[in-house]
Amino acid sequence: SSPQPIDLEKIKQNSDGSITGMFTSGFNEVVINNPYFAAGGGLMLLGTALALGRQGVVKGSGLIYRQLLVDLEIPSKDKSYLWFLEWMSQYKHRSSRHLSVETNYIQHDNGAVSTKFSLVPGPGKHLIRYQGAFMLVNRERSGRLLDMTSGTPFETVTLTTLYRDRHLFNDLLSEAKKLALKAREGKTVIYTSWGPEWRPFGQPRKKRVIGSVILDKGISDTIVDDVKDFLISGDWYHKRGIPYRRGYLLYGPPGSGKTSFIQALAGELDYNICILNLSEANLTDDRLNHLMNHIPERSILLLEDIDAAFNKREQSEDKGYTSGVTFSGLLNALDGVASAEECITFMTTNHPEKLDPALLRPGRVDFKVLIDNATEYQVREMFLRFYEGEEELSNEFMKQFKKLQLSNVSTAQLQGLFVYNKREPQQAIDMIATLRNPNNVF
Ligand code: ADP
Repeated sequence: SSPQPIDLEKIKQNSDGSITGMFTSGFNEVVINNPYFAAGGGLMLLGTALALGRQGVVKGSGLIYRQLLVDLEIPSKDKSYLWFLEWMSQYKHRSSRHLSVETNYIQHDNGAVSTKFSLVPGPGKHLIRYQGAFMLVNRERSGRLLDMTSGTPFETVTLTTLYRDRHLFNDLLSEAKKLALKAREGKTVIYTSWGPEWRPFGQPRKKRVIGSVILDKGISDTIVDDVKDFLISGDWYHKRGIPYRRGYLLYGPPGSGKTSFIQALAGELDYNICILNLSEANLTDDRLNHLMNHIPERSILLLEDIDAAFNKREQSEDKGYTSGVTFSGLLNALDGVASAEECITFMTTNHPEKLDPALLRPGRVDFKVLIDNATEYQVREMFLRFYEGEEELSNEFMKQFKKLQLSNVSTAQLQGLFVYNKREPQQAIDMIATLRNPNNVF
């Protein structure tokens, strides 16, 4: 049948004259008598209208959302990610039902270690109230992306708040940063390589006082002065187009305080330390290069037992397989550090004779110093550091030390003897003969 026009006259006749009456009868006319509806066309129209309406609502709410709310996304790769989680674990005005635990070891000032559980917000949604504003915190795991270095999924934290409160993001992040830095104050952060990146190793350690590492007369001051002079000479290097870096090599027998000194130096300069072990099996030239070019700011790079890398190289060539880092890879990495920031590299070795002379060229190693077994000067200084003011006993100790013709005593050995006799200097003198045996166990 052909569509029939809606008959307005008929509607008027059927109605009682009022508007509602007209509408009802009009509806009857349109819906019931109209053949379109019989054919289902009306349903289609209704459906379309509903769909349009719903789309409108969705678009409208999206618009409102965009106009009124702001998001801040913090990916787990970003430094502020951990700062934020730590901040939030300490924040009181929050409602979190899902927490996850992060266990940390804390070294106290007296050296004792205790465990601390941080209840950080777990994945999911949390509501916080910050400076009067509500914020929705959504911690999400990205299911697909995996951080290949650690095997953990990438995560993001998204903060959502009202547009007018967006300035609070900045306040919040600054507060989180301040909190994180405060926890590190007076501490040295040790970084180790973790895949292609540097990660803090354990909790920041209490700074070691430089005076507590006793090197032979004048050595400590000479190194400290040299490094400090280097640090204020940026302009000098840049004007002359010389890469702004300096390499130090501390060599000498084990237990002479090389590593301890570098830690104390970092504390003195308020720097952190990035430790790299060249004999690590899965360290390749590429990774080494990448790591050395991405050292966290204000950090000393420490390459420990630098000879080990080359021993291993020889050995493995004999056996027919190659080790991770090659010698030329190391030289390239040392030469190629192209940072605008300063770069201080410390290398230590117990076997300087094993080092290739190519490593010792200026630009790679600019400052070389022997840190040897204890000299008489060091023995006396160490004694007085452990037993303050015991001048007379220190003379007695020195007399015995010379009488026994002790040589090749490491400072670590002396420390062992003095720690064992913490409060009895006389007993330390009585036990001086134990220093003959470098492996003496008390
Ligand atoms: P190295 O790196 O030369 O092998 P370490 O720095 O690891 O030696 O020292 C081992 C231990 O001996 C540390 O506990 C350190 O405190 C102590 N020690 C060694 N040398 C000294 C020194 N010259 N002054 C103070 N302590 C020292």
